Amino acid sequence: MASSPPPRGLLMSFFVLPLLSLLINPATSIRTSIIKLPGSDDSRSSAADTYCESWRLAVETNNAGTWDVLPSSCVDSVARYLNGEQYGSDYSVIVDYALAFAKTVNISGDGKDVWIFDIDETLLTNIGYYMAHGYGISRSEPFDSKRYNEWVVRGTTPAFAVSLRLYNAIKKFGFTIVLLTGRDEDKRNVTETNLRDVGYSGWERLLLRGPEDQGRTATNYKSEQRSKLINQGFKIRGNTGDQWSDLLGFAVADRSFKVPNPMYYIP
Ligand SMILES: [Mg+2]
Repeated sequence: MASSPPPRGLLMSFFVLPLLSLLINPATSIRTSIIKLPGSDDSRSSAADTYCESWRLAVETNNAGTWDVLPSSCVDSVARYLNGEQYGSDYSVIVDYALAFAKTVNISGDGKDVWIFDIDETLLTNIGYYMAHGYGISRSEPFDSKRYNEWVVRGTTPAFAVSLRLYNAIKKFGFTIVLLTGRDEDKRNVTETNLRDVGYSGWERLLLRGPEDQGRTATNYKSEQRSKLINQGFKIRGNTGDQWSDLLGFAVADRSFKVPNPMYYIP
């Protein structure tokens, strides 16, 4: 036997009355319209982690602008980031976007379509050095140029596998590769040997800081080097670096790709 529909009055009481009570009683309305953000009840350490994730995002997007040292409360968080899967994943996603863009570039075939790569923390990774020295530049581990220099001249700095993937694909697409680094001219031989030893080859130029470039900001020095390339008829299609100073300034690339680096900032 089919059941008969509920009377209209009953429907009113089910749906309309609770709505009326919400509108009439402001306290009810306020209680239901304020919700706590996820994680706001978490422990103190989780709150610090949450802050450090936000700090890292601000750094990577350049919203932080110039910064000198890792916040001391974020050293552990940066250590976990670098040791965990997120760093590699972040890097990999950026490489995929870079490759997707590179595929859209019409290579003219005259050797003038350039892709620029920075070296440290872009093609080569000094993560081993920084893991042994506070996971970056911090108040407790200020930058020690002498010790860092000793690391560089060993010439055994490893490559990121994901960078090698990007580099080789860019080369295969037919771009002219220019390496533009903040390393000094006296590191040319060790840098070239190091790069070849870990699998890089086929770059057109390796541009290092000469005596005239000492004391200049990286933004200024790198912009001028890119400007010189443009004056020589090159078209800078893509640029990859771990610092905003690799990418910004003048004579910028058609597309720039910032790979992650929460360890230090170079203006
Ligand atoms: Mg770099």
